[in-house]
Amino acid sequence: MPAPQPAGTTPLVLFGGTFDPVHRAHISAARAVSRVLGDAPVHLLPNAVPPHRPQPLADGEQRLAMLSLACAPYPALTADDWELRQSGPSYSLNTLRHFRDRIGQRPLVFLIGADSFASLHQWHHWRDYTGLCHLAVVPRPDCPLARDEVQAAFPEASADALRQQPAGLRLMLQRPFLDVSATAIRDALARKGQCPALDDAVIAHIHRHHLYNVAHSPSEPDSDNEAP
Ligand code: ATP
Repeated sequence: MPAPQPAGTTPLVLFGGTFDPVHRAHISAARAVSRVLGDAPVHLLPNAVPPHRPQPLADGEQRLAMLSLACAPYPALTADDWELRQSGPSYSLNTLRHFRDRIGQRPLVFLIGADSFASLHQWHHWRDYTGLCHLAVVPRPDCPLARDEVQAAFPEASADALRQQPAGLRLMLQRPFLDVSATAIRDALARKGQCPALDDAVIAHIHRHHLYNVAHSPSEPDSDNEAP
């Protein structure tokens, strides 16, 4: 008879990003990892000053508002403004240290897309992550593999193994596998005013606040031009 498995502890999942704007692949990834880890809570954290890329088009308040709308239907997902309230570059290392201090030995999981995993060797003090968190990696089309040294630093493991220790392992998700990017979405918004990869409430917010040079859509009158 197999030995009974210890229940383990439900991890806390952190998902950082620009979310400029949040899209279907972000929400699907967050829901997938939550489910696989036993309905684990996922905090989605928009960054204030992304260290590896140009500044976002929408400001932090707008990105947080869109994230809150997109998370609202899913009780496990929380839009978290912690990085927006910090000054200086939004290094994930600082965020991980902050949450590690708050949760003690409970498992902490850092969710990233395969493109981020492939460039992890360039991130600020990435080797220190191994003592702070697990990784959960979501596949993304046309992404190279991470370097061998990065893969070796985080040995691949099962969801159950991640629940048994605080940090240091890597969960590779097989899905979702969605060819969606915020860059392509901003482009579609400027050309067509619509994009199927966005939540309806997020699209409505973008039109209401005239974000991303949004083109007028036939279904969405421009309130600035309406008769008083
Ligand atoms: P941009 O096109 O502006 O670079 P993005 O769509 O990549 O934006 P980010 O906010 O930069 O979105 O990404 C936050 C996190 O979500 C990153 O870890 C990224 O790898 C992941 N991610 C974004 N899109 C996908 C996707 N389609 N599949 C898997 N992971 C994704």
